[in-house]
Amino acid sequence: MTETVADCLFCRIVAGQIPATVVAETEHSLAFRDIDGQAPTHVLVVPRRHVPDAVSLATASARELADVVTLAARVAAEEGLEGYRLVANTGAAAQQSVFHAHLHVLGGRELTWPPG
Ligand code: IMP
Repeated sequence: MTETVADCLFCRIVAGQIPATVVAETEHSLAFRDIDGQAPTHVLVVPRRHVPDAVSLATASARELADVVTLAARVAAEEGLEGYRLVANTGAAAQQSVFHAHLHVLGGRELTWPPG
């Protein structure tokens, strides 16, 4: 099931209305490179369906959430990452800036902890 929101940036990328460097996709999910990469690999994995954040996706469809996570792991494997970080910034106070669910896949360098 695909629900789109006209003024949502990631819905427009999913619809092919805004260009993106797509690296992988499934029926339910799309993976594309972050426009402002914070690591050698920085890919965003989004559900095609519009929901505002990852928790909302879990509520709407555990299967689609699993599809996003599985695609993120596939991207990490295809990028040859030994270790990687999956990040779901949730809410403005956590620096979520695009309110369409997404996972950041970060890797390709030594990642430090804690994050800022
Ligand atoms: P958030 O801050 O966790 O919501 O992540 C949103 C991400 O989207 C940021 O890392 C941005 O760099 C990224 N971003 C914003 N616009 C675009 C775009 O047009 N293409 C790809 N990534 C984008």
